[in-house]
Amino acid sequence: MRILVVSDIHANLVALETVLSAAEGHYDALWCLGDLVGYGPRPNECVALIRDLAEVCVMGNHDWAVLGRPGINVEDFNPQARQAVLWTRAQLSAENRAFLDQLPDVPIHPPAAQGILITHASPSEPVWEYILSPSTAMFNFQVFDEELCFVGHTHKPAIFRWRGPVDGDDTATVEYRQPTPGVPVLLATSARQRLIVNPGSVGQPRDNDARAAYAFLDLETRVWQQERIAYPIELTQNQMREAGLPKRLVDRLSFGW
Ligand code: ZN
Repeated sequence: MRILVVSDIHANLVALETVLSAAEGHYDALWCLGDLVGYGPRPNECVALIRDLAEVCVMGNHDWAVLGRPGINVEDFNPQARQAVLWTRAQLSAENRAFLDQLPDVPIHPPAAQGILITHASPSEPVWEYILSPSTAMFNFQVFDEELCFVGHTHKPAIFRWRGPVDGDDTATVEYRQPTPGVPVLLATSARQRLIVNPGSVGQPRDNDARAAYAFLDLETRVWQQERIAYPIELTQNQMREAGLPKRLVDRLSFGW
């Protein structure tokens, strides 16, 4: 069974459609790691697609903010993100809002996938924490038991590999690597080796590569393949300008940050 793993779509419909058409015929189920909306110009269309296609989906911090849930003050977002949250809140249909509202805000186990946890941000703080460094990953490896955990939120593709203590050496280590697009990686696990894996962002990459990021996971072989695909960024940018979204959010898509 082959899974298409997407995250951080952020209402970028052009990017999402580009990913879905490139992936068509190559997957059996779709997992979405949250942040369907926020920043981008087509929240309703993106939520509707994920509603139809995703086997599982978890809640991201922007989804949470758009719902206006307690626990986050939208004033804590930077001014452009805040403006996008408020704009999105006004756009969202009742049906799509209801879909976002029922998304789990805790880590979940996808069906038919042994030993796998998925969450938006981190096992420790499922909606909020950024796993950007081996030290944050190290802390998180202590708060879940599964072999593999898939996260989004940072908008940067990543693989964090935890290696447990070996005989005569009682220090666990975490190593970080950035997967190369198109190159399969075996997500081998054991009692002494577990992984946290991030597919990057469909709709607003932040690793200085403007192309949409996504990945495939083969559930039987545990092979992970990072993918990148160029999409017509200017179409999304035109939609953002028409919607009156902040220029800074429009511009950053060209640079992938
Ligand atoms: Zn995000």
